[in-house]
Amino acid sequence: MLTKSEAIYERSCRVIPGGVNSPVRSCKGLGLNPLIAESAMGDLIWDADGKEYIDYCCSWGPLILGHSHPAVVRVAQAQVAKGATFGVATEIEERLASKIISLMPSMEKIRFVSSGTEATMTALRIARGATGRNKIVKFSGHYHGHHDSLLIKAGSGAFYLAASKGVSANVIADTIVLPFNDLEAVRMFFRSNSEVDQVAAVIVEPVAANMGVVLPIDGFLQMLREETKRVGALLIFDEVITGFRVGLHGAQGLWNIDPDLTCLGKIIGGGFPAAAVGGKAVWMDVLAPIGEVYQAGTLSGNPVAMAAGLETLRWIEQPGFYERLEAKTIRLAGPILETIQRTKFRGCLQRIGSLFTLFFGSSKILNANDLSNLDRELFARFFRFLFERGIYIPPAQQEAWFLSIAHTDEHLDYTARCVNSFIENLPSR
Ligand code: PMP
Repeated sequence: MLTKSEAIYERSCRVIPGGVNSPVRSCKGLGLNPLIAESAMGDLIWDADGKEYIDYCCSWGPLILGHSHPAVVRVAQAQVAKGATFGVATEIEERLASKIISLMPSMEKIRFVSSGTEATMTALRIARGATGRNKIVKFSGHYHGHHDSLLIKAGSGAFYLAASKGVSANVIADTIVLPFNDLEAVRMFFRSNSEVDQVAAVIVEPVAANMGVVLPIDGFLQMLREETKRVGALLIFDEVITGFRVGLHGAQGLWNIDPDLTCLGKIIGGGFPAAAVGGKAVWMDVLAPIGEVYQAGTLSGNPVAMAAGLETLRWIEQPGFYERLEAKTIRLAGPILETIQRTKFRGCLQRIGSLFTLFFGSSKILNANDLSNLDRELFARFFRFLFERGIYIPPAQQEAWFLSIAHTDEHLDYTARCVNSFIENLPSR
């Protein structure tokens, strides 16, 4: 007799490849079926059988206020009642754009799209259109969505692929992949590679979060800013995850860097599909209808997503929001770090604000090369251990855990106890 979740999964597999609409939701390789959600509230998610989980995936980042935040639900419902989509301009798009620009002043203009993939795809097209160059530099293990140019040595669910099948050799040839956090190799590329004058843009996750959380080493982002300026390439910060997650002004605020273009997503839609590319007017105005770089979208700037995003930003702008979120994360991460140190467990917890990854099998991850040492079998056991105890974390080790302001102390303490008991009971460390 199948459970309701099992039956849904079985039926889904017949009509949806792998039963999931994004491969990262699959628990293939972990020996489990994927979680089939029925509803969620705050830091909890319930599956189709009514089983409850504390959620540390939080829809992969948008839900910084937690699931079904009453204020976000209210504004979204009110907007749906007025009209879910119009296909013409609305005031709420201007209001969200103005709010984002006030918080991230490297941007003078913004174009809204519906997914992070569209945002980075548009950013590359702007860069190519504006510079007349074709090559793009990205970093190994960084994920920027699933369009062709950037699905090469990518992170997240694509991590174990050199390049996705179906991406043409010509596109692969236009994408140059460099090692993140390797100051010397990257500087050398900019100083001596013959292709440097063909580079339209360098795109980077300023804090990598799709090969697990990996912070930039001192001087790395500054070096990218200086070198791109020197060679006439645009610097694109992909802040789809870090934007409004690591702080109110994104990673660019923390590192005090002015990128030419910024990609945002996740939090700015408050749980609805919204993303954006923004930057200096001189770059943004190459877009149609002003310029000749074409980009469009039926649901771009969707009013429900704009309303939910604006309401989310209104909450996170409240004084003390990020301090409270940080304190919550430390409440969970602190005891785990202590256990790691005390038990000499071969692993590490890398964190910035409410974003972190617990790695198994390596004591420091600086770039994608370091990930080859990770213990995938141990992670699979860890995932199942937590899952059986009602805790849902992203089902892959090279992903980030996301906390929300709705995570309760009780749930954080329970999670810390479970994680610690797993580590403490490992037979050989
Ligand atoms: N950039 C980054 C840094 C991301 O983490 C993601 C998705 N997790 C994307 C782009 C793509 O966003 P989407 O899934 O909305 O297309």
